[in-house]
Amino acid sequence: MQQPVLFSAAVERSLRQLPVIGEQRDITYYSSHARSILNGPEITGMGFWSINPYIGCAFGCAYCYARYAHRYVMERATDADRLTGAAEQDVGGGRMPPWLAFERHIFVKRNGPELLARTLRHGSDRFRALAEGDWIAIGTATDPYQPAERRFAITRGILEVLAEHPGLHVSITTKSPLVTRDVDLLARIARHSSISVHVSLITVNRALARRIEPRAPTPDARLRAIARLNEAGVAVSVNCMPVLPGITDHPRDLEALVERVAEAGASHISTGALRLQHEARKRYLPFIAKEFPELASRYARAYAHAYMPGDAYRERLAALMTRLCRAHGLRRKTYDGDDADSAAAASDADASQLGAELAPNDLQLALAL
Ligand code: SF4
Repeated sequence: MQQPVLFSAAVERSLRQLPVIGEQRDITYYSSHARSILNGPEITGMGFWSINPYIGCAFGCAYCYARYAHRYVMERATDADRLTGAAEQDVGGGRMPPWLAFERHIFVKRNGPELLARTLRHGSDRFRALAEGDWIAIGTATDPYQPAERRFAITRGILEVLAEHPGLHVSITTKSPLVTRDVDLLARIARHSSISVHVSLITVNRALARRIEPRAPTPDARLRAIARLNEAGVAVSVNCMPVLPGITDHPRDLEALVERVAEAGASHISTGALRLQHEARKRYLPFIAKEFPELASRYARAYAHAYMPGDAYRERLAALMTRLCRAHGLRRKTYDGDDADSAAAASDADASQLGAELAPNDLQLALAL
C-alpha cells in the first residue's frame, strides 16, 4: 500500500533547513542544534576539553587558523540540503570562498547551555573527569564574545551552567571587551572553581590592528578590558599570538605591547609565531601580497616548506619576549615549543645585549634566513 504523503517536498525541505535567526550588515546568523557542546581531548588533540558556542567568527582576522573547520561544516550543511537563502547561494552556488563564509555565515549553538547541563549532570563520567583536574577551554576555534554573543548570550548561558558545578578548571580566550559584561558570573565561578581569561592582543598599534583584524575590537578596548577584569579580581593574561613576521615583530612594537599589558595588570603573556596551515594559508598569503607586497616573497620563502618560521626566528623571538617580560614584571608562557625558563637563563647570560637586541629590524631580518 502506498504511504500517504504527510508533507509536501517544499515543507519537508523547510523543516530540514537551518533557520535564519538574525542578520547584521553582511553577516547572517543560523540557529544550529548541536549534538554535543563539550569536546573531549580525543577531539581537540590538545589534552583539554573545549567549548565553542559559535561556528564561524565575525572578527575576520587575516591570520585566523580556524577557518578550515568552517569549510567542512558548510559542506556538510550543503550536502544535507540544510542551507537556505544567502548561504545556499554563497556556498552551494560557489559565490563565496569558504574562508570568507567563516566570517559571514555564523552558526549559533542555541541549545549549548542545555546540552552542557545534561552533559555535566552530577555524577556523570564527564563531570568526574573535569572535577579531577581536566581543563575546559572556551573559545579555542571561534571567539565566544564575538558580536553574536551580545544578541544570543550563548557563552553567558554556558558560564551559568559552569557556575553550578564546583571544582572545575576553566579558561576563556577572547579579543572582546564584552567578556567584562560577565564579571559577576566569572566571580561566582571563581568561588569554587579556577577560571582565567586570556585576552588575545598582537599589537597596540590601532592602525595596524585595523589592517590585520579589521572587525575585532581595538587594542585600547582590549587593554581596558584587561584592567577591568584585573580590578574585579579575575585572573587575566594576554595571548600575543600569532606574532606576524615582519609586521608585528618589531622589537620596539613588542616592547610597547609588553609595557601596556603590564600596566593594565595582566599576570603573564603567551607568545607564538605565526603558523600557516590549510585555509589560513589560502587567506593569509594573498592578504600579504595585497596589503604588504614588500613582504610577499620573503613569506613565500619562509613558509614554502614549513607551516611555521624556522628555529632561529622562534628562538630569537622567545629570548626577546623573555627579556621584555622580565623587564616589565610579567611571566611568559610559550606555545612554540621553546622553554621559557631556558630562554630566561640564556637572556640572563647576555642581559647586557638587550640594547643590541632591540636594534631595528633584528627579528624582521631573521625572516629572510
Ligand atoms: S577572533 Fe580568533 S577565531 Fe575569530 S577570526 Fe580572529 S583569530 Fe579567528
